Parts: sequence; structure tokens; C-alpha cells
Amino acid sequence: MAVVNMREMLHEAQQGGYAVGAFNILDYNSLRAVVDAAAELAAPVIIQTSVKTVQFWGYKPLIQWYGQLAGGAAVPVAIHLDHCKDLKVIRNCIDHGWTSVMIDASSKPFAENLALTRQVVEMAAPKGITVEAEMGAIVGVEDDIHVKEQEAHLADAEEACRFCSEVSLDCFAPAIGTAHGVYKGEPKIAFDRLEEIARRTGLPLALHGGTGLSDEVFQRCISLGCAKVNISTQLKYAHIDGFVEYHREHEAEYNPLKNLAAQYERLKAGVAKDIVLFGSAGTA
Ligand SMILES: [Zn+2]
Repeated sequence: MAVVNMREMLHEAQQGGYAVGAFNILDYNSLRAVVDAAAELAAPVIIQTSVKTVQFWGYKPLIQWYGQLAGGAAVPVAIHLDHCKDLKVIRNCIDHGWTSVMIDASSKPFAENLALTRQVVEMAAPKGITVEAEMGAIVGVEDDIHVKEQEAHLADAEEACRFCSEVSLDCFAPAIGTAHGVYKGEPKIAFDRLEEIARRTGLPLALHGGTGLSDEVFQRCISLGCAKVNISTQLKYAHIDGFVEYHREHEAEYNPLKNLAAQYERLKAGVAKDIVLFGSAGTA
């Protein structure tokens, strides 16, 4: 019974001052790499998929892979749907066996975000499915937002507290200055706001846009209340680089299983490094 929701693992992380890694997998090989890295390090782990990945493979194949790999793991594994705006997709994931979902209605005004988030909690809670919601705008680095503009996208502490007191969440993702993609410079993170939101909501916070942050920034965010750290871009790079670099080094060889093995090793090594950095190794 290794498949669980996020509630207990995030609560324990919050109490223990560490974070659980939430890794965006792309296929069977990347799923296997994440589960194996977590199992070898005795760490709880969150496997998440973007809506695009769910649509690419379909609900059934994905949940069957999850069941095979996560179901047999010796560590707790949560199966989470990352950023989703579509209630139909959320409903389908819940019906197929996902144990956790994220409703991202952060582009909507406060009341609408709250109403949609409540609808998802009403769908999920009776089935023991955990829910993450977002406030503010976690932008992509490619959006090229200037610092002044960025300030306007951050979650407001007062509003965040009001939001979290009006709906029962398991994890909250306030925009605090991180972005999705590959950072061009050092991102400007609103640590004070992060600390205030964590303290006043009492909820485990999710740190989005994790790829590319320095070890110090990770550790500071975790110490201030981020109990879930999302890693996606890093896996995209490892997925392609692991495969392609093997080919570059063995140009005459056309044995894809060897490329896949190299890809698996590259993915697993990166995930293992993150798990150690986030402090969750040995906690399962
Ligand atoms: Zn995100």
C-alpha cells in the first residue's frame, strides 16, 4: 500500500522542516527513475503529471504504470495532477485513481478562484483525494516579466489568508517570485511574503518553478514553510539529454534500450540529488 494522498507526507515534512519532492514524469521510464530514486533513499515522493502528459498518454495507461511501479514501492508515493484549469480533467483523474489534484484557477479573480477551488474540494474530499490550489501568477520565465510587473503577480498575504480560511486545502501554492522554465538570472524571491503566508495559513506550501534555484534558495524556502517542491524542467532536460548524449557518444550503435538506460540513469541521479537537498531522504 505505497500509494497515498499528500496529506500525511506534507504534514510530516512541515513538522520535520524538510520538503517532499514533486517530480513531473513524462513516461514509464521517467516514472521508474523517480520511484526508484525515492525508494533507494527511503523518501516519500510525489509523482505528478501535467495535463498535457495526461492527454498524451490517456488516463488508463498512466494509472496502470503508476499502479505497477508506485503500488509496489516501499515508500509512500502520491499521484498528483499538476496545474489544472479544467474540472472535467480533474474529475477524470479522481475517477481513475489519482490521489491528489491541483486546481489552478489563479488567473481568475479572487471569488471565482475560490468558488472553483471549493468545487474541486467537494469532488475530492469525500474520496480522500488531497487538493492544492494557487494564488497569484506563477509565470513562465519565457514571459519575460520585469521585476516591477512581477511584484503585481505575487500572492497578497492578506488575500492568501482569507482564501485559505474559506476552503479546506491540503497544500497552497502562492506566487512568490519563482517561475516555470529555465531562469536567465537569479530570480527575486519574496521570502518575507512566503514566511508570512506559511505562518498565517498554517498550510504546507508548494514551491513551483524549482528547477534552477540555488541550493541556498531551496533551503531557505523550505525552512520558511515550503513542504512540497515541484521539479519539472530538470526532468525534461534529463530526459532528452540522457538519450541524445548516449547517441552522440555511440553514433554507430542503434540499440534504443541502451539510450533508454542512459536516460533512466540521468533522470534518477538528478532526482536523487534533489531528494537529498530537500532533506526528505531517510524520512519514509
Ligand atoms: Zn507550477
